[in-house]
Amino acid sequence: MNETYDVIIIGSGPAGLGAAFQLAENSGKSVLLLEKTKISSGGLRNDCKQNYTYPVGFSTEHWSEDEADELLEKVAEHLNPDYVQQRNLGIYVKRAENLGVTLLNIKQAHVGTDKAKGLIANLIAQLRDKGVTVELETEMSDIDYPNKTLILADGIKVKFNDLILAPGRAGYTWLQKIMAVLDINYSDNIVDVGVRIEAKEEYYPIVKDYYDPKFIFPGRVRTFCTNSGSAYIVKEKYEKYYSVNGHAYSTDKEPNGLVNFAMLKTITLTDPVVSGHQFAEILGQMAMQLSGGQPMMQRIGDFRLGKRSKKETFNDDLYSFKPTLVNATPGDLSLAVPSKILRDIWRSMKLLDTIIPGILHPSTIIYYPEIKTYAIRPDFIDQYFKVKENIYMIGDGAGTSRGITGAWASGIRAAKGILLN
Ligand SMILES: Cc1cc2nc3c(=O)[nH]c(=O)nc-3n(C[C@H](O)[C@H](O)[C@H](O)COP(=O)(O)OP(=O)(O)OC[C@H]3O[C@@H](n4cnc5c(N)ncnc54)[C@H](O)[C@@H]3O)c2cc1C
Repeated sequence: MNETYDVIIIGSGPAGLGAAFQLAENSGKSVLLLEKTKISSGGLRNDCKQNYTYPVGFSTEHWSEDEADELLEKVAEHLNPDYVQQRNLGIYVKRAENLGVTLLNIKQAHVGTDKAKGLIANLIAQLRDKGVTVELETEMSDIDYPNKTLILADGIKVKFNDLILAPGRAGYTWLQKIMAVLDINYSDNIVDVGVRIEAKEEYYPIVKDYYDPKFIFPGRVRTFCTNSGSAYIVKEKYEKYYSVNGHAYSTDKEPNGLVNFAMLKTITLTDPVVSGHQFAEILGQMAMQLSGGQPMMQRIGDFRLGKRSKKETFNDDLYSFKPTLVNATPGDLSLAVPSKILRDIWRSMKLLDTIIPGILHPSTIIYYPEIKTYAIRPDFIDQYFKVKENIYMIGDGAGTSRGITGAWASGIRAAKGILLN
């Protein structure tokens, strides 16, 4: 590492990578990419479904369709998507429309968790070939803004001319601290709260026609991140709770006959509770309290009868598959999920079961909580995500994106802002 760089990028997720490629390919600037973990690249590592249709993955507040489309072409040049073919969409669209539900038609590609590591290694090697210095296991801790200097976790100081911060969603608390140091105003009043559904693939056969179907229901509920083939549910650790999430391996792996997807409701908070993160923590902790520090799960069969799921629920012949998140605790969702959220999600599930009959089979499992605390959205001073002279904030952590492709596009845009100067 040198003592000074023209541009330093924090975070090697898709947002950081998008910025690094744009700078390396369009300027002679010296670029340092810092990543605190051993293996790069944040969210690219899990599942790696890529959506190439606006507005999926973009915040409509910051992006028009034309702007997104232009940069999505550049994203595709680096990620080389192998698009999944969709079939029989007309039937599902018509059934959905009859119920006031929208089915978005999205251009998608899926890499799979097992193949994502290879993709990441290749991207990092390309960046190094293009002259970018990539330092893994190196964490930015603080900033001395007047002297344009970063302080790393091991105390080393590095100077920058421009700085791009792309710490992702899990970097919330840290980004909040940096914003306080830099005196940047932000808002954080939106949060997605919901459940993850796990079912036998035969009860959600649409996935054979459309890999990750995006349904939008009344009440700001939507399906999100559908996985099939060799599909699993995982826990994501946050400071005070676990959220569930899902991923799938590539088609090289033996299928397990299951499918999972999230049903999320978007909540916009107003005074006096205006922090989405605060609300998420309250809900997350409540779920942890009720289920011994683990996510909760309930079979639809039990849920419909108004009784909690128990260990036995997972050994009965009617409930014919085992949960992939083995240490989730059988419980009673209606004790943990606020009524407005549960009501809207359940109504959406019934609509979904009318569009694709079967998903409400008694064996289907509902896991809770799945929470997306997207971002603290800083007050940007230009369209390139500048927050202060020479400082840019991008990606899911800063609310400029909600997925891999949108994050990468955000990186390109910030880099373009730097190159204008
Ligand atoms: C299990 C799972 C599956 C997902 N599947 C998909 C999917 O299939 N498709 C999709 O579009 N999206 C998916 N997502 C969401 C996707 O990961 C994010 O939208 C995307 O990665 C956001 O990119 P980002 O660059 O903003 O942040 P991230 O990808 O989170 O990258 C941020 C990086 O910054 C690093 N960092 C943070 N703070 C510091 C610091 N102080 N110093 C140095 N480094 C730091 C982090 O270690 C991290 O590597 C998934 C997320 C999860 C958790």
